[in-house]
Amino acid sequence: MHVNTFEELKRMVEESNRPYSMETIERAYELAEKAHRGQKRLSGESYVSHPVSVACILLDLGLDTDSVCAALLHDVVEDTDVTIDELRQQFGAEVALLVDGVTKLGRIKFSSVEEQQAENLRKMLLAMSKDVRVMLIKLCDRLHNMRTGDAWPEQKRRDKALETMEVYAPIAHRLGMSNIKEELEDRSLQYLDPIGYKDITDRLAENGGAEKFIADIAERIRERLAENGMTECTIKKRIKSVYGIYRKMYMQNRNFDEIYDVYAVRIILDTVGECYNALGVIHDMYHPLPNRFKDYISTPKPNMYQSLHTTVIGHEGIAFEVQIRTWEMDQTAEYGVAAHWKYKAGVSTKDKLDDRIAWVRQLLESQRESADAGDLLRDIKSELLPEEVFAFTPKGDVINLPAGATVIDFAYAIHSAVGNRMIGAKVNSRIVPIDHKVVTGEIIEIVVGPKDKGPSRDWLNLVVTSEAKNKIRNWFKKERKEENIAEGKAALEKELRRNLINIPDDKYDAFMADMARRMRLNTAEEMYASVGYGGIQLSRLMIRIKEEYAKSFKPAPAAVVTDVPIKKQKASEGVIVEGIDNCLVKFAKCCNPLPGDAIVGFITRGFGVSIHKADCVNARHGLEGPDAGRWVRAYWADSVQESFKSSLEIAAIDRDGLMADVAGLIAEMRLPCYSISARQLSDGRATMSLTIGVNNTEHLNTVIARLRKIKSITDIQRV
Ligand code: MN
Repeated sequence: MHVNTFEELKRMVEESNRPYSMETIERAYELAEKAHRGQKRLSGESYVSHPVSVACILLDLGLDTDSVCAALLHDVVEDTDVTIDELRQQFGAEVALLVDGVTKLGRIKFSSVEEQQAENLRKMLLAMSKDVRVMLIKLCDRLHNMRTGDAWPEQKRRDKALETMEVYAPIAHRLGMSNIKEELEDRSLQYLDPIGYKDITDRLAENGGAEKFIADIAERIRERLAENGMTECTIKKRIKSVYGIYRKMYMQNRNFDEIYDVYAVRIILDTVGECYNALGVIHDMYHPLPNRFKDYISTPKPNMYQSLHTTVIGHEGIAFEVQIRTWEMDQTAEYGVAAHWKYKAGVSTKDKLDDRIAWVRQLLESQRESADAGDLLRDIKSELLPEEVFAFTPKGDVINLPAGATVIDFAYAIHSAVGNRMIGAKVNSRIVPIDHKVVTGEIIEIVVGPKDKGPSRDWLNLVVTSEAKNKIRNWFKKERKEENIAEGKAALEKELRRNLINIPDDKYDAFMADMARRMRLNTAEEMYASVGYGGIQLSRLMIRIKEEYAKSFKPAPAAVVTDVPIKKQKASEGVIVEGIDNCLVKFAKCCNPLPGDAIVGFITRGFGVSIHKADCVNARHGLEGPDAGRWVRAYWADSVQESFKSSLEIAAIDRDGLMADVAGLIAEMRLPCYSISARQLSDGRATMSLTIGVNNTEHLNTVIARLRKIKSITDIQRV
């Protein structure tokens, strides 16, 4: 039963030919043995056999002295009186850090999780183990526990198997540790579906066992290739994992005999010419299955993969796959740009996590091969996921956020209702500021207030996710009903004026109530609010209104006016045409109006608005003629003839004379000022409220732009 003694471990160290510190490893073993003394595993062995076995697996992977020591000590902090500080004193910061990491990972418990959730959890675990060795130790720990899981009670076996299948095997896969991944899966399957597992292992045991079967084939191929002059070849044998076969049988609904790649041999040669020669030899030896031959040498896969693939029937009537390639192609397939394992996983090449892990794998492989690689792994300290953070809800759900996200983002990621009611947050049970940046591994509890509390506009500057931004904006759209009604009503009235729709006052309310019903809304107010926050497009509403207006009220100038393609143009020559923003304006040749003159506009058929002096003969005649409805009021932009009230909220750093400067500018611009008030805030800031009269939004923007130039004003908002 896969249990190693310390003597075995020592022998492995000696035989490894790598520069391990045997003295440190012995001290680690002695401490572990003493700390765990008296503890037994469920299977009855002394507990220390477990950490020793984990250390052996790590040794086999080629990990360094610190990792081996940490493996020996990985359970002492959790299960005995030994503390992290003691480990730091006796074995240094590295070992202490590794043990601490493994201990923390071990404390995360979960049962079954949905796929998305599992993926987040995997990423989070990887990110939490900032030093990748932490994850490697954890994987080996899990592997040894699964190897010895027969002693567990039934329920624990299933729980551990599920967790291993959903979380740890995929992590091993991502780290490119295919042997460990396959063993984790196979042992999990054994507990999750013992009958299915046995069915497959029985089939593999036929014909004298899978290993012998494939070894015989490899030997025969080697002989025949040598007879044909290819003496320098390497043959790798592969048996599909039990779980790999299981997936094909149950997911693709095939019989065992219909899976042609249960057994595979890979022939690696020096030249392309030899590859095709070898293919000929193979097809001469065995009968090839139709439609299973692929030449990826002449036509490489998009990821540069090159190889010859064929499936043949062995003498026992069992099919197996043969891959033939050169050494160079083999290297590309193993370590190449897109990395072989990534291609198999079907993971998008844009996944940065995979890119980062690809080199971890290469490092592992290179260290295993070269004796002097020493403590290369110690250099793998990079955070695997610098642009992502993961945190838990108190219930244990994992929330995945971009780096820099705050607890507000976290709240909105849970649900918009949580965000909208948020009044604070606790991290690991302690209150944090509302702009606290989420750190991976934190357990975050959102403190909520009353239902109608709502977010603060400042939050828009504190959140980083577009999800949170949109949800905050939506709240302001939906909850600020009064504002929306006023805004929607103003916008609609403006549009009515622009279209010269003049609904008699006594019919106005009934008309709008009727329109609201047509838009499937209960009241005119609801309709205005909807226009206000963008629920109803004003242009679509206007189409309905025009139709209805034309039916209900006689002169229908609107129909004429809508045909006018008014060209959008900035600043209409200093003229404001009532109800029309940015229209094309030209000055009538008959009277040449000048700024200061009283003026009127005439909406032409296709050439925008023509401006006449109010006392121009043409204008006076026109106002009495059949096109009277096309004349509109106009005035020069720098004088305020007709003003609309607009309120501004000004934020500033408080200073002497601030209010005087603002009031002075308003006077200078000759704007009517309806109210002005200022208030000092506690932290040296001040806020001012201002209601002034302006012609239109363009005019208002000019005013705001000039106000902004006043010293110490930090922000101006329309309210
Ligand atoms: Mn353990």
